[in-house]
Amino acid sequence: MPGQVIRVKRREKLGWLERSYVPMLVQGLAVTARHFFRNLAGFVTGRRRDFVVQFPEERIDHPDAFRGMPVLVALEDGRPRCVACGLCEFACPTKCIDIVPAELPDSPVERTPAVFDIDMSRCMFCGLCEESCPEEAIVMSQEVEIAGFDRSSMLFTMEQLLVPEAMLDRRLRFLRREYER
Ligand code: SF4
Ligand code: SF4
Repeated sequence: MPGQVIRVKRREKLGWLERSYVPMLVQGLAVTARHFFRNLAGFVTGRRRDFVVQFPEERIDHPDAFRGMPVLVALEDGRPRCVACGLCEFACPTKCIDIVPAELPDSPVERTPAVFDIDMSRCMFCGLCEESCPEEAIVMSQEVEIAGFDRSSMLFTMEQLLVPEAMLDRRLRFLRREYER
């Protein structure tokens, strides 16, 4: 919603125990041990023989927090939800976003991107564009299969980046939960 204040959930100050890293080390070792013994039990009992995903025949369902390539949210009429404020362009550490704003004279939104390009050969899927966007207009998708034979094919234009809002519902709900929006 335009003008809405979004409170980003930040971590509380770390205590001495957390600063010692010991609980995190134990937590990490517990996760590793859990996977190890679960796989070992599956292997010994014969219940689980394959430990590798047979890509591309098999695909895994990534968790909600997974960050694939950033895409633009398309509204029902196909227009981008983006208002070309430029915050994501500013926040992007690799400067791979290029926005040219334009005016929307007959709309309460007033601004829209005339150009919105992302150079995927430089994008590092960090998600800072998504985090900085006040409009939920750019989100990280599940898409990772974006290989190309040359750099020019990695330049994604607005038309290539637009994805209907309904198809991004899972990610949008995750973001609202994560940032308590
Ligand atoms: S994911 Fe990170 S590197 Fe990629 S466009 Fe967004 S801010 Fe830039
Ligand atoms: S995607 Fe979001 S942050 Fe980036 S220009 Fe559009 S409204 Fe602003």
